[in-house]
Amino acid sequence: MRTIVTVVVALSLAACTSGRGRGGYAEGPGPDGGAVAAPAPVAAPATPRAPVGATLAPASGPMDAGALARETGMQVQDLGSSVLLSGSDVRARFFPGTDRVSIDGRSTPMGAVARREAGGLVVPAGGVDAVRRALRDAAAQRLAMQPIPLKMPVPQPVKPPPSLRDVTISPRPAAARRTPGGDPSWTAFSAAERSWKWIVVHHSDDTEGACEKYDRQHKAKGWDGCGYHFVIGNGTQSGDGEVEVGPRWRPQMHGAHAKTPDNRFNDYGIGVVLVGDFENGGRPTARQYEALVNLTRWLMARYGVTPDRVLRHSDCKATACPGKLFPWGKFQADIGG
Ligand SMILES: [Zn+2]
Repeated sequence: MRTIVTVVVALSLAACTSGRGRGGYAEGPGPDGGAVAAPAPVAAPATPRAPVGATLAPASGPMDAGALARETGMQVQDLGSSVLLSGSDVRARFFPGTDRVSIDGRSTPMGAVARREAGGLVVPAGGVDAVRRALRDAAAQRLAMQPIPLKMPVPQPVKPPPSLRDVTISPRPAAARRTPGGDPSWTAFSAAERSWKWIVVHHSDDTEGACEKYDRQHKAKGWDGCGYHFVIGNGTQSGDGEVEVGPRWRPQMHGAHAKTPDNRFNDYGIGVVLVGDFENGGRPTARQYEALVNLTRWLMARYGVTPDRVLRHSDCKATACPGKLFPWGKFQADIGG
């Protein structure tokens, strides 16, 4: 990869600075953001935050979330039920009292529990490692994509929220749209957004689970991975109220959660599942329910989905899902139906 980068840098210099001597080379940033083959002596890069992710030492132990954010140049936000570390490449969400971290929507085990202490959050060594690893991977990916890497995280341009009219009538590129109230990982798309028409709510019909589990189960059925687009945890295998972005969402793939003869709810329906069995005594946790309302409202605003197009799985076909104990009337009122 380094070879490719060097070649591209050399080519671009050849194209842009023909006639200049080799001295021009020192002006171009190298893969680490430092000088390449500079005639001046190379200064020791002792700053802790400059080479984000590229040369970080392995974790030696647990670390305060604020200190980890400072080390990696990420922003830290304490959201009460979770603590979010976000940078231009990576978002990591910790849930106090759980042993999993959600990195870019993927639930990752840390081997120990993140706990609140002295007004901060102590991240276990496994979590520190996971964040550093994600940053290294993202930096490597960025190098592969861009011949000249950025030295600093680029701030996201702040756009005014789109009106409903904009969302429903004149679809614009994803990068130009921002809908307030969502998590940044919900708009980390790798393909053009689909023209979603429905939102279909499910329960997982078990008591413990997370996206990883359903991904495994659905692959075992011969499907192309977790059939839902979003999985909202109940604190068993992911955080309580944690919204996991399923592998289908980023590439904007159709769902595999509500089969009908014309397949419309799979083709244009966003599948949201809550971990739990709400048919046989279980109920959504307060955090799960709150996360579902927030996610649904965000999806409705972004895609112009009206309340009558927010459905239960049982509205699509004969099934008990999401269970008789799911508070459907309250939910409809809370999403403005
Ligand atoms: Zn269902």
